[in-house]
Amino acid sequence: MRTRDLAGYRVVAVHAHPDDEAITTGGTIADLTARGADVLVVTCTLGEEGEVIGEPYQQLVADEADQLGGFRIRELQDALTAMGARGQFLGGAGCYRDSGMAGSPASENVRAFVNGGQGSVDKLAAIFEAFRPHLALIYGADGQYGHPDHIRAHEITHAAAEQVPVPRILHTVRLRAETEARMPATAPAGWRIAPDELDGVEHADVSVQLDDAAYSAKIAAMRAHATQLWIADGRVTDVNPHSATTGGDVVYYALSNLIIQPIQRVEHYQLGAGQPLIDGQGILTGIPL
Ligand SMILES: [Zn+2]
Repeated sequence: MRTRDLAGYRVVAVHAHPDDEAITTGGTIADLTARGADVLVVTCTLGEEGEVIGEPYQQLVADEADQLGGFRIRELQDALTAMGARGQFLGGAGCYRDSGMAGSPASENVRAFVNGGQGSVDKLAAIFEAFRPHLALIYGADGQYGHPDHIRAHEITHAAAEQVPVPRILHTVRLRAETEARMPATAPAGWRIAPDELDGVEHADVSVQLDDAAYSAKIAAMRAHATQLWIADGRVTDVNPHSATTGGDVVYYALSNLIIQPIQRVEHYQLGAGQPLIDGQGILTGIPL
C-alpha cells in the first residue's frame, strides 16, 4: 500500500486513442492514483480506424461493420478501472473520429480529429478549467511516432494550456537504448524483433520507477485493450484466443504489426512546458510536485 502523499494532486493525461493511455503512461497513472492523486484521462477519439488482433472481432473494422469504436469504449473503461483513473472523451464519446495513419482517406472525414480546429482546443481548455490539473501528460511534438492524431493531441494540449495555465506539461518518451537492451533473444512464433522500427529518444528529464503493483496494473490495463494489444504472458482472451510467451521477468507485447516490445518497468518523460523539475540533473523516482 503506497503512502497517499499525492491526495489533492490532479493530473490530466491527454491521449489520441483508447490504448495509448495504457501503453505510454499506464504505470505512471497507476502509481499516481495509488498515491492518492486524481487522474483524468482525456481520450480524443474512439480509435475507429484501428486494426483488430484475433479472429472473433475481426469484422468490426472500419471497412466492414465499422463498430470498432464502440467496442473500444468498453476496453478503455476496463483499462481505466485497472489504473484507478477517471475518463472522459473530448467533446463526448464519438465527437471526434480517428484520423487514421498519415495519408489515410480517414483524415478527410469531417469528424476526423485532425479537422477539429479551434473547437477541439476550446473543449480541452474547458476540461482544464473544470479540473484545474497540476500536471498534464502528453506526447512530444512528433506525436511520439508520427500518427496525425497523436501530433494533434500534442498541439491541442499545449494550445489549451495557453488558455488555462497548467503548471507543468510532461512528454512521454521511450529511451532507445533501454528498449534495445531489453529485447529478448527470441520472439514468439509470428512476431518480429525490430527495435529500429520503434520510437525512441536519447534522454529523459524524469523517470517513474514502477513498483510491482503499478507494473501489474499497467499490464492489466494493456490487456484490457485486447483488440489492439497482444500481451506475451501466456494468457488468452475472448478477443484473442492465441497465447504467446517469452521467458524472463520482462513482459512483452505487440501491436497488430507483431513487432515485439518490452513493457518497461520505468516510464520516462521530457519536460514539455512549465515549471522545471526539482532535480533537473537526472533520473528521479516518482514525479515531484
Ligand atoms: Zn494512438
